[in-house]
Amino acid sequence: MSIEQDLKAISDMDEGERSRFLVEQSTDMISRHTPTTEWTFLDVSPAVERMLGYTVDEMIGTAGYDLFHPEDADNLIKRSDSVRYRKGMYTNVYRYKHKNGHYIWLETTSRTLRDTEGKPIEVVCVSRDVTEQTLAQQATRRLARVVEASSDMIMFCNHKTMQLTYMNEATYITLGTEKENPVVFYLEQMFEPKTFASLVQDALNHAASHGTWYGSIQMQLPSGRDRTAEIREVIAHRNLNDDMQVEYYSIIGRDITLRRKAEDEMKRNQLEMAHIARLLSVGEMASGLAHEINQPLAAILNYCRGSMRRIEEGRISSVDEIGKSMELITRQAKRAAEIVKRMRSFVKKTEYQRMEFSLNESCREIAEFLKQEALDHNTSFEFELEGGEQLIVADKIQIEQVLVNLIRNAIEAYNDCEKNHRPVIISTRKAKDYVYISVADHADGISAEVLAKLFEPFFTSKSTGLGMGLSISRTIIEAHGGQLWAESDDQTGTQFHIKIPAKG
Ligand code: ADP
Repeated sequence: MSIEQDLKAISDMDEGERSRFLVEQSTDMISRHTPTTEWTFLDVSPAVERMLGYTVDEMIGTAGYDLFHPEDADNLIKRSDSVRYRKGMYTNVYRYKHKNGHYIWLETTSRTLRDTEGKPIEVVCVSRDVTEQTLAQQATRRLARVVEASSDMIMFCNHKTMQLTYMNEATYITLGTEKENPVVFYLEQMFEPKTFASLVQDALNHAASHGTWYGSIQMQLPSGRDRTAEIREVIAHRNLNDDMQVEYYSIIGRDITLRRKAEDEMKRNQLEMAHIARLLSVGEMASGLAHEINQPLAAILNYCRGSMRRIEEGRISSVDEIGKSMELITRQAKRAAEIVKRMRSFVKKTEYQRMEFSLNESCREIAEFLKQEALDHNTSFEFELEGGEQLIVADKIQIEQVLVNLIRNAIEAYNDCEKNHRPVIISTRKAKDYVYISVADHADGISAEVLAKLFEPFFTSKSTGLGMGLSISRTIIEAHGGQLWAESDDQTGTQFHIKIPAKG
């Protein structure tokens, strides 16, 4: 039948028939109950079968109260005086038991019919299954609680005005404002103007066209806030109309103050450790260095004595001859000064300082610095430095500390070695965006077992060793975006390799 035919058939019914028809056809459950606490069903419409699984006959005469969810039954009794009251009608939402045991959510509007003396005769109810909506609302409420309680900063931002229309608790805490005293925030206020113009706008546009954006953009917090935060995710939300325009953005950020502080602390500790290691190695090198300084001093003494003798014996014929001696003395004094200068800069406690320098030059200078130690161990340096400067941008003292450590280890590797040919080979080469430096020896090598532990703190095979050199060296190289590793065949020697980003 068409709707028109339906309506015609309904209009042709008498009033009683029409009412019954409507009650019977309604998808809402219409029921009559005793006005007692049992709430016994006096009558119910056929919708009961679809809603609760019982037939009309099964329902009539049963106590409606028994089908309430225990929690709701208690609640209803407690709240019976304050239930929502509108024009003599009460509306309740509660769980009610289906015939097969599960509960559904019902929204029931009821009205008590009374006799002329006001005594309740019966209660008429219209109930609707609101399970789907109620569960959806519960899920929404739960989600809202999760958003509010999240430790991430979550903000909703109007896509046109850039005003923040919602901020969760974590955002308020990081910004140092209170929810109770709301301040109108605009997204622009949370970034440096340049950052906002480039990065943030790009992130929003990316989210608008791809749905989401992930990354990390540092925020600028209100002045006086000693905190660090960044945004990490932007989600674009579209309306449900045909045009599917972006309606607002969710912006998710994180307060990284603690992480930054821990990183800074770690960096400070590393600098401290590196400094201690340098002091220790200079201590170990002291006798070699004293010898290094002694040599130019002895040479100076010789030149002076020679010149004096010649002056005393009247053998100096021209000022030029003295000049030549003076030049040689100056050169030796400079050499001694150079060694002292290097030693002082090596033990100096500095902040992390990035500068551009040539690795080839550093390798040569350090070899010069360790010349005496190499001689004492009967070893000699061999260089295979690839042409060019091999420029890098890094903390020069720290990188040289690593080189000193590797070269000294290579020299010491010959300690119990019988081999006659005892080179320490220092090589550099550039490949792609990295400079590779290798320090190799031809001593007895390292077993696979030791190789695996080499970079562990306090691993040492030396009676006077501390075992921190390689561990600190690896930390330094990795802090510079590089890698440090070792190779050995346990027979013909060991090679240590450094890979570090080249300048640019
Ligand atoms: P330390 O020199 O104080 O022992 P390191 O961390 O610099 O501390 O080195 C740890 C250990 O690694 C050394 O004790 C040694 O056993 C091993 N090692 C390092 N370099 C070499 C090398 N070139 N040849 C053989 N063993 C080496």
